[in-house]
Amino acid sequence: MSAAHAAPLPDRNSLPDAAGHFGNYGGVYVPETLMTALQELEAAYLQVRDDAAFQAELRHHLKEFAGRPTELYFASRLTEHAGGAKIYLKREDLLHTGAHKINNALAQALLAKRMGKKRIIAETGAGQHGVATAAACAKFGLECVVYMGAHDMERQALNVFRMRLMGAEVRGVEAGQKTLKEAINEAMRDWVTNVRSTHYILGTAYGSHPYPMMVRDFHRVIGREAKEQILAREGRLPDELVACVGGGSNAIGLFFEFLEEPNVRMFGVEAGGHGIKRGEHAARFAGGRLGVLQGCKTYILQDGDGQIELTHSVSAGLDYAAVGPEHAFYRERGRIEFAYATDDEVLETFQLCARLEGIIPALESTHALVHGLKRARALARDRIVIVNLSGRGDKDVQQVAKILGHQA
Ligand SMILES: *Cc1c(COP(=O)(O)O)cnc(C)c1O
Repeated sequence: MSAAHAAPLPDRNSLPDAAGHFGNYGGVYVPETLMTALQELEAAYLQVRDDAAFQAELRHHLKEFAGRPTELYFASRLTEHAGGAKIYLKREDLLHTGAHKINNALAQALLAKRMGKKRIIAETGAGQHGVATAAACAKFGLECVVYMGAHDMERQALNVFRMRLMGAEVRGVEAGQKTLKEAINEAMRDWVTNVRSTHYILGTAYGSHPYPMMVRDFHRVIGREAKEQILAREGRLPDELVACVGGGSNAIGLFFEFLEEPNVRMFGVEAGGHGIKRGEHAARFAGGRLGVLQGCKTYILQDGDGQIELTHSVSAGLDYAAVGPEHAFYRERGRIEFAYATDDEVLETFQLCARLEGIIPALESTHALVHGLKRARALARDRIVIVNLSGRGDKDVQQVAKILGHQA
């Protein structure tokens, strides 16, 4: 790997720097009107980060409301099927609302309360982050407005209903492609206007500083638990970690605890869609280049003029043109390796996991499973691979049934 010649790794805790940079990536690229809000948020976050009472309260809610700790599950039949390394699944799919997203939504809602903000806004694509945010807001009695592309609202009608059941107002966005990118723009516009009363709960390790750092920190519990659990179970660290990467929050949440363990390899898996052809995938590291999108400098799928390209993936949660800046940094340094899984591979492994393990994984998480199985096959039986099962697939069964030609 070319990046192996890069400079030695910095202390993981030294990133990002004070201006929000992970090396050449990240930063703050927003209109002047949002600078104060981001600075206020950073100050508030740094305060609660070192506040034992806040952290204890957060741990309490993560346990009682979200269902932490999640199991580290030995997938014996997938292991047997692959015929190589032992495969463990970190079961974030068992969390309340069905995915890792609740870790961050709960934590940011609690932070908003601390800041005295009574109104929450969020963006959502498929609706998973919107549902997690709506749940957290209901729990804490906060007003909740979720921006969602009008096209996504049609495709994800059930999640729209879930959010409304939990008291959130879902606002359809009619601009552009009517999907996630436009929903983020609209949420930013709302925030500029209502910044005194409102906190914006961004859903992944992306955007302007402090979001990539803060969202990462709120998911670090995944890796902390996994490390403790594998040591208790196997008496040693895993050889490899695998996680899917949309914005990058579940992946960095698992990886962070292991970044300074030189013998643990880590793989991020992007959406290969129909294959690496323009407009047919969302593998930013396979077809993207450096640019700025929605407040952040990173790898982006764009054309020669810097126009954002269309993306495609069978999984809505990985279908975004840019990737979290911390991943771009660690890839450049050769610390995190990247691969992609195609829609066809994902559909096959989705069914395989259901049949062999009795677990229906989210289509996003299935990308990690595809690569995890490949890695297990390549390794000896005494090796260990941990795959982050970021969410459950109940939300996807109707779509898969349709693709496979079944009645649902
Ligand atoms: C949203 C989502 C993802 C992608 O987001 P990251 O920030 O990259 O983790 C992955 N898996 C599931 C189940 C999701 O809902």
